[in-house]
Amino acid sequence: ASPQSVALLGATGSIGRSTLDVIAASEGRYVCHLLTAHQKLDELAAAARQFVPRYIVATDPTAAAARDWSDLPEETELRIGPDAIAELVSHADVDIVVAAIVGRAGLEGTWAALEAGKRVALANKETLVLAGGLAMRLAAERNAQILPVDSEHSAIFQALQAGQQSEVARIILTASGGPFRHHSQAQLEQVTTAEALNHPTWKMGPKITVDSATMMNKALEVIEARWLFDMPADKIDVVVHPQSVVHSLVEYVDGSVMAQLSPPDMKLPIQYAMSFPERFPGPARRLDFTVASSWEFEPPDLDRFPALRLGKEAAERGGTTGAVLNAANEAAVQSFLDGEISFTDISRACRAALDSHDFDPTPTIDQLLALDAWARREVSAWITCC
Ligand code: NDP
Ligand code: MG
Repeated sequence: ASPQSVALLGATGSIGRSTLDVIAASEGRYVCHLLTAHQKLDELAAAARQFVPRYIVATDPTAAAARDWSDLPEETELRIGPDAIAELVSHADVDIVVAAIVGRAGLEGTWAALEAGKRVALANKETLVLAGGLAMRLAAERNAQILPVDSEHSAIFQALQAGQQSEVARIILTASGGPFRHHSQAQLEQVTTAEALNHPTWKMGPKITVDSATMMNKALEVIEARWLFDMPADKIDVVVHPQSVVHSLVEYVDGSVMAQLSPPDMKLPIQYAMSFPERFPGPARRLDFTVASSWEFEPPDLDRFPALRLGKEAAERGGTTGAVLNAANEAAVQSFLDGEISFTDISRACRAALDSHDFDPTPTIDQLLALDAWARREVSAWITCC
């Protein structure tokens, strides 16, 4: 078969680099059509020399202007600025778009890929949190496929192959619990940025690492699952599983529970999102059952990790809540990383933004983007006053 052509948005990130590892190990199954990066432009150029894509996009114009690009391969064309992404992912010769830009900045590229009817290997969960209902409708209208890269959702997607949608009783997302699983409330108040950036099982970008520590990541994943699998919020549970081996579970009406297991290594869900319905022996790590191991499961503590309540609430209410929660969280995480607010203030700021917004059950995308900007201003105001 001829190789599949991949547009990789966010090639210099944690998911981006793992995607390049999968492509490099794919024995010609995949080739790069487009690679994008924001500020790590030396890494982008190095990836261009290794993978020789048709295009690269440097989304931050200031960083792009500061660089001498004479080290690019002849076959690769450089474009500058975020608007180039939407045009280039729509090209007829793009087969798969890997959406691995972090946060709301990933929305436009993901949206353009859905509009163009592509297969989207979706790591950028924030797009589904912000506008999941509209994104799923757009995908259906344009015959675009959304394949989850998020490991929990990949696990659920795989476990769902064992039955019919009508036979699913509930889905159970596993959570590592993050670095502060055993912290008291008083300890949580004192957490430093360095401690929050030190995740026990996964090596990820800074934003999602802080989200894992607050368990906001699981909150966002509940909302992501609600849209991806068209599952009501009351059928989505969370269980803490510190080893991050069981990536999630699906319980069927007869009581049978299906799980997907593998070491914590994003290369596997990235590869599966690209290769589904096929599988091939890729570069992901393997479980070793010849050594003794034990796996634990425990219920999450909603009092110490109130972000989970916010996620459940937003998954239940839908409408504008996801956009507000997502934007408030992005702003609050940045403020925490900048040393402006405490760790526990992140959830407090999100709660304040959610409670003060004008709820609308059926917003348009323009309304959601306006609310995204509003929620960021709301968090700044909250930080100044409190
Ligand atoms: P990283 O921070 O490691 O990488 C983010 C990528 O996005 C980089 O390539 C970065 O470019 C680019 N980027 C950042 N800001 C912008 C912007 N304003 N415009 C365009 N591009 C931008 O993040 P991760 O790889 O950890 O996460 C990416 C996505 O995948 C997130 O949505 C996350 O929730 C999701 N995800 C990640 C997992 C993981 O294991 N890391 C697991 C599950 C989901 P540059 O570095 O060049 O500045
Ligand atoms: Mg996940």
